[in-house]
Amino acid sequence: MKTMTCRQLGGACDLALSGETADEVIQAQDKHLNDIVASGDVAHQAAQKDMKGRWKHPIKGMGWYKQTKRDFAALPED
Ligand SMILES: [Zn+2]
Repeated sequence: MKTMTCRQLGGACDLALSGETADEVIQAQDKHLNDIVASGDVAHQAAQKDMKGRWKHPIKGMGWYKQTKRDFAALPED
């Protein structure tokens, strides 16, 4: 398992998200963004918008995705 924070993934807090793969962590972040914005949080709105934009425009979002995968690969195992 490796851990990245919400902030490392473009978010606005230091919530730790763990996963076996970068995709798992990205999905956890996606869920966190949706949950926290649904609960009325404003600080995460921009990050949620960016995340949604990446799913809609996979080619444009690819740079972020590749960078996140590289960051994840560089992390030590928990
Ligand atoms: Zn957060």
